[in-house]
Amino acid sequence: MEIHQLTSLLSVSPQLTAEDLEQVVAAGFKTVICHRPDREAEDQPASDEIAAACEKLGIAWHYQPVKPRAFTDEQALHFGELLEEAAGPVLAFCRTGTRCTNLWALSQAGKTAFPDVLHSAKEAGYDLTKLADRFSALAAAQTTAAETTADVESEQPNASTDKAATTSQEPSATMCGTHDVVIVGGGAGGQAVAASLLKRQPNLDIGIVEPSAEHYYQPGWTMVGGGIFEASDTMRDMLDVMPEQAKWYQTSVASFVPDQQVVVLSDGELLGYKYLVVAPGLSLDWGAIEGLEEALGSNGVTSNYRYDLAPYTWQLVQKTRSGRAIFTQPPMPIKCAGAPQKAMYLACSEWLDKACLSSIKVEFCNAGPGLFGVADYVPALMEYIKKYNIELGFSQNLIKVDGPNQMATFAVTDAEGNKSEVEKSFDMLHVCPVQSAPAFIRDSPLADAAGWLDLDPETMQHKQYQDIFGLGDVSNTANAKTAAAVRKQAPVVAENLLSAMNSSALQAVYNGYGSCPLTVERGKIVLAEFGYGGKLLPSFPSWLIEGTKPSRLSWFLKEKMLPWIYWNLMLKGKEWMAAPGRKGE
Ligand code: FAD
Repeated sequence: MEIHQLTSLLSVSPQLTAEDLEQVVAAGFKTVICHRPDREAEDQPASDEIAAACEKLGIAWHYQPVKPRAFTDEQALHFGELLEEAAGPVLAFCRTGTRCTNLWALSQAGKTAFPDVLHSAKEAGYDLTKLADRFSALAAAQTTAAETTADVESEQPNASTDKAATTSQEPSATMCGTHDVVIVGGGAGGQAVAASLLKRQPNLDIGIVEPSAEHYYQPGWTMVGGGIFEASDTMRDMLDVMPEQAKWYQTSVASFVPDQQVVVLSDGELLGYKYLVVAPGLSLDWGAIEGLEEALGSNGVTSNYRYDLAPYTWQLVQKTRSGRAIFTQPPMPIKCAGAPQKAMYLACSEWLDKACLSSIKVEFCNAGPGLFGVADYVPALMEYIKKYNIELGFSQNLIKVDGPNQMATFAVTDAEGNKSEVEKSFDMLHVCPVQSAPAFIRDSPLADAAGWLDLDPETMQHKQYQDIFGLGDVSNTANAKTAAAVRKQAPVVAENLLSAMNSSALQAVYNGYGSCPLTVERGKIVLAEFGYGGKLLPSFPSWLIEGTKPSRLSWFLKEKMLPWIYWNLMLKGKEWMAAPGRKGE
């Protein structure tokens, strides 16, 4: 067992086992803290076993799982609090001890000078030089917070830590800017809301934080996988969609300090705001399925959920003329819940056209219990399941991919609740990845218990922080996570944010509208459009488009009109068929 001492009260070590605990006690430790999430590696002992050994030996145990290189300042500060309360000396461990050392170092921001922290870590065998900028940013934020609290307490002895008092603080020295509105994310939601805000108030001071140099029209990726669009049709330079009036920070937001109205950027600088719009989308967790990341892009393994892989889907469809094709869907929530089956129907349509469908065994393996969440659309989809002779498998969750051997493993639960692992060979495997709230949202004070951005479902205002709004896939609102939802949400956010700025009541209401154009065959679409509670919200009269039936006009809409509407209307603040509802309507 390796133990590295950081201070007289804290040491760190690589992964411990239950068997190490007697030695830990003999070395005088009173508390053990685990920073390594369970199941990070196959050979890793479960934290429960170590917790049980601690209990048996009478030492305190804390489990504070933290992902490598993805820990937040809040997690570091929480660790600092734990250390202050814990019986010492404390031994913290992760895979190598590095995570614990980084967390400890950040927990000292504002309390200890960085050179001292650096020196202690170096003596213990850990190099923290790269942490310098982040440490200084957090130290500045901590100092500002302490000064704010002190000022408020001395000037207003009876007042609580009031937001107005915080707002009046001068930005600290490490601020890289401050804006009336800062938007986190320049994807569909971020750009649409920027355009809707500027349409209403052209001189509004907006900063947009977006790391990517490219902007993607993701709804087009299904069409790329179906051989209808080129991948390049779905991508533009970010600069081309950034409003000229907005300042673009080409970096990421690492964390939030909502009580001080600043976001911490990944380089450690602080960006201040009066109002914040949070729209960073969701995270695609390719690593959650063992072997998937390595397998993607060869041996028949693909996904329309990546720009670079959607063309490979089409290559595979053209190449496959017999064998077994499997299309998977992970547990909800996912963006565009219909996308996994859209890829399948377009492949089947091509195979039918090329008269080889009867030689291909097509399976839809869904971790969930049903084909589509809104019952009204299921009959039309079932017609195609029959037409293409697709085998439907529910409660079948893809857990492992072996690319070279073309083998997929599923965790299957049968009707009686019995669980088993089933291996299936494949010639083509289209995978929809596991999806979750981004870590920097999940670990922030802005998240709900499940990790998503906690918004009022009608006004899109944050439930706790009235100067924060949000939209898009990151939201915890119960709509379908689609660009179509964003199109309706952006005007609501713009209108309500400006009302809040003018101290007026928020009047604009979002009804949960989302849309999923299900490409059931090349040339026809079942146009699912629905709001909260699965209420059907068709945009067109039924004589024009009957949403629950396959329609050629809907295909025309998806192929020719929607991309144009996205680039030329939605991202330009032209809110065609997107007028917000009103409170009390
Ligand atoms: P995104 O558009 O993903 O944008 C998020 C942005 O935030 C990104 O630019 C990212 O770089 C940035 N970001 C991330 N982290 C940070 C950070 N820390 N700091 C700052 N910025 C950050 N929708 C439909 O309406 N119809 C469809 O037919 C449809 N089909 C789809 C098919 C597929 C295969 C896929 C993948 C999606 C589909 N969608 C569809 C869903 C639609 O694309 C998304 O719902 C929509 O893009 C969500 O917008 P967003 O702004 O929330 O997220």
